Amino acid sequence: MYYFLAGMPRAGSTLLAAILNQNPDIHVSTSSPVVHLMWQIQEHLTTDDFYRSHPKPKFQRTLISSVIDAYYQEQQERYIIDKNRSWITSLPLIHNHITHEPKILCPVRKTSEILQSFLKLMQQYPGNMIDENIKPPYTLQKRCDYLLSTSSVLMASVQQILNAPKHSLHFIDYDELLSHPKETIESVYQFLDIPHYEHSFIDIENQLQEDDTVYGMPTMHNVKSSLVKTIHDIQLPDDILKKCDKIDVAIRYQMTEEHSYPSLPDQGKNLAKFTFQLVKKALQGGALVVSQEVKEQRLEVCRTCDWYDPSQVRCKHCGCFLEEKANFALDSCPIGKWTESAEDWENGRFDELVQQLEEFNVTPEEQPEVYPDTTVEIPESELPLVEFPKNPEMGDECVLHDVKWKWNGIHWEYVPE
Ligand code: SF4
Repeated sequence: MYYFLAGMPRAGSTLLAAILNQNPDIHVSTSSPVVHLMWQIQEHLTTDDFYRSHPKPKFQRTLISSVIDAYYQEQQERYIIDKNRSWITSLPLIHNHITHEPKILCPVRKTSEILQSFLKLMQQYPGNMIDENIKPPYTLQKRCDYLLSTSSVLMASVQQILNAPKHSLHFIDYDELLSHPKETIESVYQFLDIPHYEHSFIDIENQLQEDDTVYGMPTMHNVKSSLVKTIHDIQLPDDILKKCDKIDVAIRYQMTEEHSYPSLPDQGKNLAKFTFQLVKKALQGGALVVSQEVKEQRLEVCRTCDWYDPSQVRCKHCGCFLEEKANFALDSCPIGKWTESAEDWENGRFDELVQQLEEFNVTPEEQPEVYPDTTVEIPESELPLVEFPKNPEMGDECVLHDVKWKWNGIHWEYVPE
């Protein structure tokens, strides 16, 4: 049975492997070439003229699928966990050639600590393989800039994690592993759905040493025998710390269960309510979108909100894509952080539209031809409630969109069931 280990670098994957390898039924590999080999075979066969002139799809499938079995043919353990960061972006490969239920362990850690850990190694081993990407002299700023650039292994892993479907990943927070090892390892067993094993968290030994001279950093995969956090005394520049914080926020959202998107039926319900209002307003010849300024103000609020998903620019509360949501005059934040903006439309964009319509020799009065039934009356009782109560007092509660809200003195706060 195959599982996978990916995640952020310098985030405890070697430590996790050393602990799991105590179980005689588990083999966690060192960084393995399996996934790259599979890609290379696939790539080669699609470009090789001899193969293209006489393709044999069954052979191709068998060959690619056999790589992992061949690599682990000498392992006796029942559960093999192959380690490589590229597994997250190779889910189709896993799905087509290894298992229909990919399960990837994904260690994560505060980005600033990962940077400090890399920087310590880079200072210790000048001429390492990361420095090869930087022009000397190797300053702290240059090294940080490279580590936070899109070409670095760190940022590649961040991108992969943010774009991955969450249900295939099990996050293992480095701090949690150190502070609550028993519970953290138990959660790994639950995710993999394999029988429990009693692990020891003292005298931890890395049984599978890698030859780290290959990377120019001979102690890169050393593991301490006990669960002690190393604090690296390396002061990071302010701009770098800010970037690290942003990455952490994005990763935390991806990790947090309660921030997962609403179910598809609920997203549909949200959309239906909004569309209902939009159509009603359109029938009345009213506002549709806000000015660029208002849209930007709304997005500014969203960017600082707990429900904001920066990787998709999406609201995790209602599931809406915010570039669109913030654009519509009649849309509003589901927790009251910003509201409808019909006036803005009427004061600004509406005039623009009138002008555009006039350029096409169409006046607003002629719009009923586009929307013939302007006399449609929608009974007030059928309208979904779209506004929070006006002038609330601290602690006031209401129910809107089938959920409960409480006024905290500043804004309406979602009250979980
Ligand atoms: S809850 Fe409101 S402020 Fe927060 S992301 Fe969603 S729409 Fe934006």
